[in-house]
Amino acid sequence: MAIKTADEYRERVAKLTPRLFMGGKRIERLTEHPVTKGVIEATARVYELTMDPQYADIMTARSHLTGQKISRALHIHQDNQDIEKRLQMARLSSQKLGTCNYRCPGNEMLPALAATTWEIDQDKGTEYHQRFNEYLKYAQENDLVVSGSVTDTKGDRSKRPLDQDPDSYVHVVEKRSDGVIVNGAKQHATGAYAADETLVLPGLSCREGEEDYALAFVIPNGTEGMTYVAQYNPFSVEREFAEDIRLIGNPLYGQRETCLIVFDHVFVPWERVFMCGEIEYTQRFITRFAKTHRMNCGGACKVGFMDLIIGAAQLIAEYHGLSRVSHIVQKITRMIQLNNTSLACAIAAAHMGREEPPGSGVFMPDEAMSNIAKLNTNDGFWEVMALAGDIAGGIAVTMPSEKELENPEIKEYVAKYLRSKAPAEKRMRMMRFLQNWVAGLHGVGTYQGSGPSQNQMMVLYRIADLEQMKKMAEELATSYGA
Ligand SMILES: Cc1cc2nc3c(=O)[nH]c(=O)nc-3n(C[C@H](O)[C@H](O)[C@H](O)COP(=O)(O)OP(=O)(O)OC[C@H]3O[C@@H](n4cnc5c(N)ncnc54)[C@H](O)[C@@H]3O)c2cc1C
Repeated sequence: MAIKTADEYRERVAKLTPRLFMGGKRIERLTEHPVTKGVIEATARVYELTMDPQYADIMTARSHLTGQKISRALHIHQDNQDIEKRLQMARLSSQKLGTCNYRCPGNEMLPALAATTWEIDQDKGTEYHQRFNEYLKYAQENDLVVSGSVTDTKGDRSKRPLDQDPDSYVHVVEKRSDGVIVNGAKQHATGAYAADETLVLPGLSCREGEEDYALAFVIPNGTEGMTYVAQYNPFSVEREFAEDIRLIGNPLYGQRETCLIVFDHVFVPWERVFMCGEIEYTQRFITRFAKTHRMNCGGACKVGFMDLIIGAAQLIAEYHGLSRVSHIVQKITRMIQLNNTSLACAIAAAHMGREEPPGSGVFMPDEAMSNIAKLNTNDGFWEVMALAGDIAGGIAVTMPSEKELENPEIKEYVAKYLRSKAPAEKRMRMMRFLQNWVAGLHGVGTYQGSGPSQNQMMVLYRIADLEQMKKMAEELATSYGA
């Protein structure tokens, strides 16, 4: 069967041996380290949701290649309804995990790859699309977790790759009869060390002379020459040394975990290369990926997160006896407004989507709406977090440990002075959960993930039909007659 179980994924991942470093140490077993375990459990939960009949319509699809029922995480949108279901999947996964679903960036590269490889083949008689379809069939049949890497390390951002260390962007260093050798590094790769494979797309729109950088490929986890350097921060430390993960803000699934992936003379066989040298298509790869990613990861996924933040803020207001106070009701309502604005734009992106390029059979979300979904989320998410922090009070960041409730010397004090309308235990649990959102990594993560605001502003300005708007204004302003 093309849909695998959570345990089948866990068994696969237990066999992975990526060269992974975290916090200055080599991680030998992904299934044993507290941080990597969180990534595995979040991904496994996505497999569980996919198997759950009540979510089948959202989490599964029919492969356009084999006709088999597959995970939607490996599906190419065939119509607008498919795009909308994809965004529902993003929201649902976020609601259930409170962190990344780890199948998202790779999934969002698939339509861009299907559309653009088709287009290159049409124009140039290459065989990229056939290769891509063969790969996709393999991924679908084995229900693989495919992470996605587009973000180069970029070095000096004011310089092109050839004007600085050439490895600042991933590129080909040698072409051989059987494949290519690749150097460089991709950063912020979500969940890559616990994924079966990583898809790599170019992170810049290439110009003449930069053909070696116009590169798209897929690579199995732990291929020789690949090194993964995991993110590390106070939340990593908390999880690494926690005696009891039940006391952590998001106990089972933790933070969105990413890593730097270094490619040091990595061999990629031709059958896994989906573009090599066609500079004029790099921009199309990027914009097609970006519009899918910004509708889902930038928009709908964060709607799921905001659902959780709003739920936690409302609960705390109730625990504090304030849920009917007018300014609290107003603040909760404002949070709902911001959240639904992001959702509305994501849904509009799906509804206004179209086949792109015509004849390819691949449906893409609307570019303006997907970018606006992300842009609204960038601002809205910060405001939702600020309002939740306002409602929660200072205790959201000054709270003692829940462990004190088990400490015979002081448990009575803590139970007495930390209770509200709700018992201390309940209030402290929800407060820790909220702290994870409002005083953690999610603000910058949400803003930068799938690109900071300036990226979306540039797209909006580029695609807006200003000529048409000028003409309409001129026509009406001069409508008094000749
Ligand atoms: C939690 C998280 C998960 C992520 N997951 C993934 C993933 O799975 N795969 C993946 O590929 N990427 C992922 N990303 C990467 C994300 O897309 C980037 O963080 C984002 O595009 C910004 O790139 P950067 O971090 O290199 O920042 P920078 O590019 O350094 O941007 C920082 C600031 O500098 C500005 N800037 C940069 N270059 C220029 C320039 N030339 N001219 C003018 N202004 C400039 C930007 O507008 C921005 O304001 C993730 C990021 C986060 C935070």
